Amino acid sequence: MQPRLWRRETYPEGSAIFQQGDTGLDAYLVESGSVNISQSDADGRVVLLKRLNAGEVFGEIALVDKLPRTATASAAKTTVLIAINSQFFHDKLKNSDPLLAYLLALLVSRLRANHQPSNASEPLMSDHMANLQNSAASHIQRSQDISEAIEREEFKVFYQPVVHLEDGSLAGFEALLRWDRPGLGIVSPSEFIGLAELTGLILPLSRWMTAEALRGMKVFESAIERHHGQHHTGCPSLFMSINLSARQLLDTEEINAIIAIIHESAIAPSRIKLEITESMVMDNIEKIILTMHQLKKVGVLLAIDDFGTGYSSLSYLDRMPLDNLKIDRSFVLAMRNQNNKSNGHRIARAIAALAHELGMDCIAEGIEDGVDEQALKILGCKYGQGYLYAKPLSQADALAYIAEHATL
Ligand code: C2E
Ligand code: CA
Ligand code: CA
Repeated sequence: MQPRLWRRETYPEGSAIFQQGDTGLDAYLVESGSVNISQSDADGRVVLLKRLNAGEVFGEIALVDKLPRTATASAAKTTVLIAINSQFFHDKLKNSDPLLAYLLALLVSRLRANHQPSNASEPLMSDHMANLQNSAASHIQRSQDISEAIEREEFKVFYQPVVHLEDGSLAGFEALLRWDRPGLGIVSPSEFIGLAELTGLILPLSRWMTAEALRGMKVFESAIERHHGQHHTGCPSLFMSINLSARQLLDTEEINAIIAIIHESAIAPSRIKLEITESMVMDNIEKIILTMHQLKKVGVLLAIDDFGTGYSSLSYLDRMPLDNLKIDRSFVLAMRNQNNKSNGHRIARAIAALAHELGMDCIAEGIEDGVDEQALKILGCKYGQGYLYAKPLSQADALAYIAEHATL
């Protein structure tokens, strides 16, 4: 449960809001009344520093660095305050650029030095500050590595087959990003996607990824045509799934760029599937629903990925123009080797029923053995994806897979 950002508190005249030396937690906005800020000097004498009135904010320094309060705050008369939750603030900061967090902490430490009572000793560089400094430096370095890797064309697209569960035939591929780092080998997206999101590098990367995956699709189609003969009418048409990032979905210009790439590819949009992770939807639901409708107008297929792991978007699900719902791997894992009364099984069954009720097809990912496959087939899942069929493959390996599997 997300902590509430604001909390209204009333203090009777003369009561303490916080004491000098207390651990800093919240910052406060004076809604009505007034607040005395005082400090004990070297001789223990209490000196009134200032009186704050409605509209003024105090306690904000401790909100940033969580160090002990340098002054005491008390209500000069009956006072109503809005407490600004520090947890909320720190969660936001944790998810922001580490450089921003470090610069903010640096500014605050300098500001605090000016607010120290005259008897206070010089604060040392705290572990917290040292950590912030290190993570800012490593962040800059790693972002630089990613941006150079884009220029040096070190990224690759891998393709994981998606099959029709009914008969195991190839239905399409999911395009998955890989970083082929010289000297280090293939790096998985979990190690760089988060950072690429944070820095915005995900945008050029996703444009490249989309164009490259669609080029890959053309290569696969020609291979299939060769297998089936040029005019074979039963030639199966594959789809290509591409993962979108939250950053793209909220950026109209980027979405337009992706649409332009789709048009330029001359591939029928109905064979391009865009995957949107459930957890990225909730932060800006209205805007994302609009974007989904814009994409749907282009004719692409839309899938909601990792379903069941994000903040519940159940109440919005019927407003989203979705074609597929992807059951997250964790539910398939929970089902594995358990009977059909296990919780994993119940959840997977409920997700499949929900998808069907809303007129969507289900895709199950993370299918690793025949037992998984059988269980998901019984639930009526249309598509399956997982190591049982193939791991994500290089383009050359995907072509070999096609040669082996698309000749039916
Ligand atoms: P995802 O979209 O949920 O992709 C499925 C992940 O599950 C892939 O990991 C795939 O290798 C893995 N997987 C598939 N079948 C199995 C299985 O049977 N067992 C197990 N243990 N794992 C299986 P991968 O390729 O490491 O990708 C991780 C995540 O990175 C993706 O999760 C996706 O969220 C993100 N990602 C990958 N490529 C892109 C991209 O081009 N753009 C964006 N925005 N995100 C991407
Ligand atoms: Ca996906
Ligand atoms: Ca997934």
